[in-house]
Amino acid sequence: MAAAADDQHAVQLIDEQKRFHEKTLTYFKQWVSGRDVGLDYHVISVFGSQSSGKSTLLNMLFNTSFDTMDAQFKRQQTTKGIWLAHTRNVNTATVQTAKEKDLFVLDVEGSDGAERGEDQDFERKAALFAIAVSEVLIVNMWEQQIGLYQGNNMALLKTVFEVNLSLFGKNRNGHKILLLFVIRDHVGITPLSSLSESLVSELEKIWSELSKPAECADASLKDFFDLEFVGLSHKLLQPKEFEQDVKKLGDRFVFEHNSPFYFKPTYHHRLPLDGWTIYAENCWEQIENNKDLDLPTQQILVSRFKTEEIASEALANFRSGYQKEIGTAIDDKEKLIAVMQQLKTRCLKEYDEQASRYAETEYLEKRNELEGEMVKDFTGTAKMFLENLSKLLIQTLEKEVGDRKSNRSFAERSEASETAVKNQFHAAADDFDKGGFITSSREFVDVFEQQLKEEVEKLRKDEIASIITRAKKGITLKIKDATISLLSNPEIDVWDKVMKGFHQTIRDVLEKYEMSEGNYDFQVGLSEGKNQDIYQQICHCAWHLLNVTVHDYLKEDTVVGILRDRFESKFRYDDNDSPRLWKNEEEIDQAFRIAKEHALEVLGVLSLASTSDNVEVVANFDAADDVEDEFYQDDMGIYHSRRFAHILNEVQKEKVLQQFRRQINVTVLDSKRSIIKTTNS
Ligand code: GDP
Ligand code: MG
Repeated sequence: MAAAADDQHAVQLIDEQKRFHEKTLTYFKQWVSGRDVGLDYHVISVFGSQSSGKSTLLNMLFNTSFDTMDAQFKRQQTTKGIWLAHTRNVNTATVQTAKEKDLFVLDVEGSDGAERGEDQDFERKAALFAIAVSEVLIVNMWEQQIGLYQGNNMALLKTVFEVNLSLFGKNRNGHKILLLFVIRDHVGITPLSSLSESLVSELEKIWSELSKPAECADASLKDFFDLEFVGLSHKLLQPKEFEQDVKKLGDRFVFEHNSPFYFKPTYHHRLPLDGWTIYAENCWEQIENNKDLDLPTQQILVSRFKTEEIASEALANFRSGYQKEIGTAIDDKEKLIAVMQQLKTRCLKEYDEQASRYAETEYLEKRNELEGEMVKDFTGTAKMFLENLSKLLIQTLEKEVGDRKSNRSFAERSEASETAVKNQFHAAADDFDKGGFITSSREFVDVFEQQLKEEVEKLRKDEIASIITRAKKGITLKIKDATISLLSNPEIDVWDKVMKGFHQTIRDVLEKYEMSEGNYDFQVGLSEGKNQDIYQQICHCAWHLLNVTVHDYLKEDTVVGILRDRFESKFRYDDNDSPRLWKNEEEIDQAFRIAKEHALEVLGVLSLASTSDNVEVVANFDAADDVEDEFYQDDMGIYHSRRFAHILNEVQKEKVLQQFRRQINVTVLDSKRSIIKTTNS
């Protein structure tokens, strides 16, 4: 394990025990140090037999510091495993101006051919791993190895082909890998072209002998690999040329106009750098456990993990500033929605910037979830706002509907106000809905409308109570005075007049509500039947009042008084309303008889309320109004009282008669005495 991870310093990604080094992520962070690399990076692996100068080349080419045999104790093998280094500093022939892309270099340290056997396992696994993560595979070999069927190298290439087929054979998605053959100690006697020709024919041979899965039976080597060849001069014999060759090689990793340029989009695994270590670790785990390595699934798993992580962070940032920012706008809908929009946009932008590079389905799925989480917070805020708004709107409604001074009826006022506040509430709820800040405005609207309905119902009840109270007041005054005035000076048809006045009073008071004969609309937005109920209530009140007035007034003493007044006015005054002067007793007796008869004419009338055509007056009551009465219910369900008409019973009438007689006898005696006085004087 490398001690430090300075820039370009190599770290061991996979050790001799085939363990993945988890801390790699921290090195990545240091290497990248806060830059957003995204997909803008490349991975290169190097393969080749032991001591073929791989690490030496990488260090020169990429300015990395992989261990080389020279740096170690002489001829002692370097530490086995897969080593990783990072560079942005490629050794080039052409002078560079801009800072280069991030390159990650994997140095695969296998074992010597002699020691193979158990290590075939490592070699195969390393090849699988390198192919799963790299774009360019450098195959390093000595010139003199070419043409001789050199078991070691060719076995390695056979492995590479096989594992590549196992990874990409099934889902051929156009992905390719570049095999870059670097021919070392190329002294130049044999031109590169003929070296590459013989290499290609060897490769084709291996490919053709390979047992391929059915799907790829007719696939050619070039369907999966691009091939490039480069020769490097002898490092020790031609050091200057060697150096120049390495620099020219470097150009092909850096300058896109260079032909060939070694990084093509089809080589890239399309995984943002943030997810690379997880991806690499997942791949290694599968390989190490001898499971089928399914690259698309690995990429999905990484995408899932990373998008989740990015979404959580975006959400945490969103929530950390939420209350404060919302707090400044909670009273103002436009502002509130603007702030919500801003918070949402900011959060999604933060998410999109990093997560959109991952597998689209995972990215979109997590994005939806993230939006869903935000909606939860927004819904809470919208609820608060809408509850507040609903309170204010109900207050407005109360004020508008309760305004009896308005020249509009309750029905008109409540309908107008209800529509207006409903519209306002709907508009607000819709705004939250449209912005996607709540999942549905329906539940809010339903709650509000229910509250509104209850409120209007309450106001309507108040209004009805007020109408009844006012009607009662108007009726009370008129009925009491008019009835007593009629009864105090009764004629035979007094009940005709009382009843006519009674009905007229009700009609007068309810005049403004009468639509047509006996058909009332109290303009509180009720059905015909309900209007009729109110009318009945008022009538019952009036009847009750009439009942009380009549029965309170027509007590025995009052009736005696009425009869006596009636007697006296007939007895004491002549037809011209002049006081009589008695001449003799006969005259008095006669007048007495006539006046008495006249007075008693109304005793029956005052004892039993009936119209002049002898029909008993029947009162319409509400049962509750006068519980002590004897009631009966008619076909229409209305209660009637039999007692109303029965004012004085026979015993009471007898008492009245008695008193009346006594009193008029006194009157008559006085009159007679006055004659005696006049005659005597
Ligand atoms: P690795 O095991 O493939 O990584 O090989 P090293 O880079 O550790 O080098 C092994 C030995 O080969 C060292 O002693 C190097 O000095 C030597 N070497 C490196 N490059 C060259 C080269 O281009 N030509 C020759 N002849 N020797 C080289
Ligand atoms: Mg090495």
